[in-house]
Amino acid sequence: MESALEIISIDYWPVQIPLAQPYHLSSVYGTLTHSDAVILRVHLANGAAGWGEADPGGVKFDGYTLETTCSALAELTPAMLGQNVASWVEQGLGRQHLGAAAAALDVACYDALARVRQQPVWKLLGQKRHDGIDSLWPTSNGSADDDLKVIEQYYQHGFRTYMLKMGDRPIEAEIERTRQVLTDIADDVIIMVDANQGWSLAQASEYVHACNDLPLILLEQPLPADDIAGLSQLCGQTRIPISVDESILRPDQVDEIIKADAADIFSIKISKNGGLANSLTIANSVEQAGKRILMNSMIELGITQAASLHLGCTLDNLMPCGHAYMSTKRMADDVTDFSSWLHNGRAHLSDRPGLGIEVSMEKIKQYQIGEFHVG
Ligand SMILES: [Mg+2]
Repeated sequence: MESALEIISIDYWPVQIPLAQPYHLSSVYGTLTHSDAVILRVHLANGAAGWGEADPGGVKFDGYTLETTCSALAELTPAMLGQNVASWVEQGLGRQHLGAAAAALDVACYDALARVRQQPVWKLLGQKRHDGIDSLWPTSNGSADDDLKVIEQYYQHGFRTYMLKMGDRPIEAEIERTRQVLTDIADDVIIMVDANQGWSLAQASEYVHACNDLPLILLEQPLPADDIAGLSQLCGQTRIPISVDESILRPDQVDEIIKADAADIFSIKISKNGGLANSLTIANSVEQAGKRILMNSMIELGITQAASLHLGCTLDNLMPCGHAYMSTKRMADDVTDFSSWLHNGRAHLSDRPGLGIEVSMEKIKQYQIGEFHVG
């Protein structure tokens, strides 16, 4: 039985899928037009398989591009041959590695083991606390009128939480934009802001002072990722909860930020954080510190989104708002059926074995820009 669960071969395909609409982020990241991902499949000796996905965020985000993710996989995959997936999951061996490539391998091991055991992946992570999670919808970096148009459109589709992207216009304009949006929205709409490292401490201070009376649910990554002292100062200046995203690629950074009192909310992304085992470690640290989690996403496809939903549904300390389960809806296409899990602005967990998604080989072939086979 032991050897039946060993990995005998691994395939992976870098893919590029166009976004339904270009996405303008902060000055740090510019405008995105495609999702770059690597789809990965592990094959076990018993004939079972498991799917994973890497979502490189670029040099300025998590340090990974499509090319460096494939190089990292070329390095990591040979050592995975012969690895027993039950040992991998039960001993949390995914914590040995970090980054997008490691995430693809870790998620694939969880999926394969859960499929063999005829269990959903969440059962390998903890107890089910939610059957589904509301999704947020992001707006591009633009004017208040642009935001309000998006909010009006997606409100009709059931979305109640919106993430406003900021970080490349003058701070007075962003303050004015925030005030106008919060004045014009319906009572049940929740607004969060993500500055994607776009501000200095002086700009962020000006923003939080001017917006301190507004019911913003959180302000994410106002400062550069490594400015922990600045984030700590900012937290002391405002009642608006401060969230970290780019600042927490690794579990040890989470511990450092908790110690420095430099954030109230922690954005978990399965690919950024190097897979399910690392993400679970982060979630546990955040819970022990009495802080909250935002289940967030890169521009990612349905494999990572499903993994994120399985983990999110086991957590007790999620922010009381929408989380990032809309990524596949923002693509012109996907290689999975995850979009069908979303109804009326809410992502519903599957109890099917493994991640519970269907992955289409045909779609992978359609969007692949390379193909690799190990073993
Ligand atoms: Mg963010």
